[in-house]
Amino acid sequence: MNMSRIPLLIATRNAHKAREFARILPPHFELKTLADFPGAPDPEETGTTFAANAAIKAESISAVFPGLVVSDDSGICVDALGGMPGVYSARYAGTHGDDEANNRKMLVELAARPESDKPFTARYVCAISVAKAGRELACFIGTVEGQITLSPRGTGGFGYDPLFIPDGYLCTMAEISADEKNAISHRGEALKKFEQWLASAPEAVVE
Ligand code: IMP
Repeated sequence: MNMSRIPLLIATRNAHKAREFARILPPHFELKTLADFPGAPDPEETGTTFAANAAIKAESISAVFPGLVVSDDSGICVDALGGMPGVYSARYAGTHGDDEANNRKMLVELAARPESDKPFTARYVCAISVAKAGRELACFIGTVEGQITLSPRGTGGFGYDPLFIPDGYLCTMAEISADEKNAISHRGEALKKFEQWLASAPEAVVE
């Protein structure tokens, strides 16, 4: 059996996502992120779907770095907000990655919705794109259903986790352990699909 590690560049500067990748993927992956390559391109996410934005990131990074690249485009879709913030999740309140402002905006928007909209059903979606030499090889989608609480709780996870109660739970995504989150999360599901695909397509690893 070949015990060598598989180099994998995660096309993200988001330390929270990188931490979850590192915990979800088995140790035979040798992970790097864009934090290791400060000069890497930062393509504009012009897509209207998670899959399109994931492909933009994976393809642009793999065009300039050798080997296998994966990207993650993800977010939360709230039914009472017509599916928003969706692909705009990171910049919902205006500034990219301002989780606190994004959460505040979601609470304000939902507080203005009629009682008949409750419960505020929602889902996290994650698209993982795999690319090599500037071309996407595959894309995997993971989702987790739940609802939004107007009483944020918990300090784990990141982003909208203090507002999101996964189906089957009474607590928020920010109140469960990292391992439990990864076992049920959109990212966990998409990465499991990626692993299964890679096991059936080992030629993708060859440079
Ligand atoms: P992206 O970097 O354009 O893919 O945007 C991701 C954004 O979606 C994050 O900044 C969060 O606001 C949200 N998001 C994605 N995954 C999660 C998660 O696991 N927990 C909480 N928020 C998430």
